[in-house]
Amino acid sequence: MINQERIKNLLLELIKIDSHSRKEREVAQVVKRRCEQLGAEVEIDDAGEKVGGNTGNVIARFRGTIPGAEPIMMSAHMDTVVPGEGVRPIIEGDIIRSDGTTVLGGDDKSGIAVILETIACLKEQNIPHTDIEAVFSICEEVGLLGAKNVDTSRLRARYGLVFDSDDPGFLFTKGPSANHLEFRVYGLESHAGVAPEQGISAIKVAAEAIAAMKMGRIDEETTANIGIIEGGKATNVITNFVYLKGEARSLDEAKLEAQTRHMVECFHKAAAPYEVTVDGKRTRARVEEKVEREYSAMDVPDSSRVVQLVFAAAARLGRQVKTLASGGGCDANIFNRKGIECANLGTGMRAIHTVNEWLDVKDMYASAEIAIEILKLNGELVQRNR
Ligand SMILES: [Zn+2]
Repeated sequence: MINQERIKNLLLELIKIDSHSRKEREVAQVVKRRCEQLGAEVEIDDAGEKVGGNTGNVIARFRGTIPGAEPIMMSAHMDTVVPGEGVRPIIEGDIIRSDGTTVLGGDDKSGIAVILETIACLKEQNIPHTDIEAVFSICEEVGLLGAKNVDTSRLRARYGLVFDSDDPGFLFTKGPSANHLEFRVYGLESHAGVAPEQGISAIKVAAEAIAAMKMGRIDEETTANIGIIEGGKATNVITNFVYLKGEARSLDEAKLEAQTRHMVECFHKAAAPYEVTVDGKRTRARVEEKVEREYSAMDVPDSSRVVQLVFAAAARLGRQVKTLASGGGCDANIFNRKGIECANLGTGMRAIHTVNEWLDVKDMYASAEIAIEILKLNGELVQRNR
């Protein structure tokens, strides 16, 4: 049903194009050209200017063969995480992996390949289908910034699929809310050998805060992490400043609130006992925190149009797709909040965000086959319901 060589070659072509977040221009141009060759009207929006990137989201509108039918959205992101430049794919049978120095970029170039192959097959095989609005986003990996800046009032689709997860047997329909946290810990600088009594170590305050903190998996629905810590200039100086970045996520808003509050409290409690008086001037350790909502949870019910469509399409292929909750956020979190009901179907990417990333092309083929069947079935249902 699909052209395996073609989709595999497209994936290989895409992953060799550097596209760290905010630097997706080259891959955006390739995607734009491919979409135009498939007959789409393509625009690149102004999201790049808004987020400081070198290109916007690629929005491609494919005309369907069923006039007047409501369009469906298909989406994947164009950016990859660091280290993702100069990817040299190693092909071992059906497995494609990086050479161990970079990520592979199957996250999410495999999603782009699945969408383009699906549309190519619909055209070639004259499969009746509705209009398709394809959104190839930028900056997914740095806070879903491309999706956040898609002007959905200019899209007609109110349901669709994101192709940005691992196993094509799974459809992610639930995802967490996430808070982004930053902490600035202020101590007091002093010579570590001559006058340690006159200093307050921001490193020690931060360390005590972290040691007291619940991190990692908090419960089934909740996770937390401190991912960045920076501070200090020399071993003989008591460090007066440490900067930390972290996050908390939960499928449950109240749990997210509680975990976020706990992390902030750990810093303030750790700082509280530290104070010194030097030349009559009293200095206390203090912490400034910044808490921002990065994205909000998604929760698409199994009874929804899009999930039912995926279930039915998979069943027609003799496959089973199961709905699942993800611990990660993706563009679907944003689209759902913007009124486009969508779920996230797997494309075969594995061990993502590591230099061990790999992909089994058979999974990507399966994902594309399911996608074609979804579009085909959707067209049939739209026509039948007229
Ligand atoms: Zn991704």
